[in-house]
Amino acid sequence: MRIPCRASMTGCLVLSQFVFLQAKAVDPPRLTAVTVKPAIHADHMRPHIEFLAGPNLKGRGDAEAKQEAREYIIDQMIAAQLKPLFLKTPAGVLPSIQPSTESSNPLSAVDACVQLIPDASDANGIEATLGHNVGFWLEGSDSRLAKEFVIVSAHYDHLGVREGQIFTGADDNASGVAMVLEVARQLASSDTKPKRSVAFVAFDLEERLLWGSRWFAAHPPWPLHRIKLLITADMIGRSLGNLPLPTVFAMGSEHARELKVALDQVGTPVGLEVCRLGTDLIGTRSDYGPFRDRSIPYLFFSTGEHPDYHTPQDTPEKIDYDKAAGIASLILNLTRYVADSDRAPVWIDAIPGDLDEPRALNRISTLLLETEKERSLTNTQRFLITNVRNRTQRILKNQWMTPDDRIWLIRTSQLLLLSVFWIKSWFRCRVFAQDTECRHILSPEISPTNLAMSGVLGRIHWQDVNSPIRRPSQVTGTNPDAPRIESRC
Ligand SMILES: [Zn+2]
Repeated sequence: MRIPCRASMTGCLVLSQFVFLQAKAVDPPRLTAVTVKPAIHADHMRPHIEFLAGPNLKGRGDAEAKQEAREYIIDQMIAAQLKPLFLKTPAGVLPSIQPSTESSNPLSAVDACVQLIPDASDANGIEATLGHNVGFWLEGSDSRLAKEFVIVSAHYDHLGVREGQIFTGADDNASGVAMVLEVARQLASSDTKPKRSVAFVAFDLEERLLWGSRWFAAHPPWPLHRIKLLITADMIGRSLGNLPLPTVFAMGSEHARELKVALDQVGTPVGLEVCRLGTDLIGTRSDYGPFRDRSIPYLFFSTGEHPDYHTPQDTPEKIDYDKAAGIASLILNLTRYVADSDRAPVWIDAIPGDLDEPRALNRISTLLLETEKERSLTNTQRFLITNVRNRTQRILKNQWMTPDDRIWLIRTSQLLLLSVFWIKSWFRCRVFAQDTECRHILSPEISPTNLAMSGVLGRIHWQDVNSPIRRPSQVTGTNPDAPRIESRC
């Protein structure tokens, strides 16, 4: 039996619990795609996640804990013999790509693997440091293409300790960092290096309105046009709403035809299902936002929110390590494919909806109805979910999505996410209203009522949020566009 979305193309995964579901759901056949053996395994991912989400790292929220996380990441990158991304030159400017200017002194090279993110100046004009991005890179093997970059990234910060409880953040986002470390290790140790250069970046301050990636995009190590693709992963070790889905959602391919081709061509690791969604279904949820706003092609991977999202219960033992390893393997293959392609992804405004979207919604709504007793759905939720299942079934039967269907799909998916999956986060934020993350959720225009009324979530970008942090252009003192490099890692 085959399951919907991209793994249906593999024909490899048999899940007995879906037999009943499949008998009822409309599941048009897909193109045949190749199943590939994952190159990254659960045992590769586990030590990273267990360390980063372990008790010593205290939820990677305060300066000391985040420094420990950075040191771990830096150690792994140096062990893989990667180069620090933020190289220093005597002129104090960042080189574009000049490996020959790199100091032969390894300590000097380590010095520039961290990008400082400044805080506002105090009354005396003294600037504190707000955060630190970590970056390394692998030089491309093709002299012509090596000046172009694919970035593989994930944020490493989380929520720290609150009211005596450690928010360990195993899924959010130790899982994403583990992916970056393993993709880096695999590419660096391969006999054939990618043609384009590949950068590996661990962003800070994602939990504070994406400030780390915003700073990076505003102060990149090279001109932005050299970034051909930004890949980022946030929460790749669980399942949306704890539903039994072997799915990773891939967003961003609507902005480059080459990325849709790449997703089709690289194959699907055994046991994994890839669903392509338009990013407007979820709005800005992670570090792709600042790159998307600059029209840089991106891919965002996530297995979705679950009941332990942003709670102390997001712990390592709940991670599906095989699934996370499968996703890391997929990202490894995609990185290599794009880095080696003659034609790099080219940004376009948006390709209209992919049938993966109604397929995913049909799958999710059917599973929600299957498990409605355990979930104690209200009558309103049941009505909404039934409506979603029926209309997506019609779309799939017709094999065509009209513009009206797509508008309905966007609003409905936002409403579904909000009313079924996010409602707990919203109520929790009523308690933790001091959190910056909660300020985002509690912003007057992001109340459940307003969202339900207008379906505006997809139109809320980070620029619209009343940030408590200064924007990069408001840096005082020295030239705001000057690079920021920490002297020691
Ligand atoms: Zn996250």
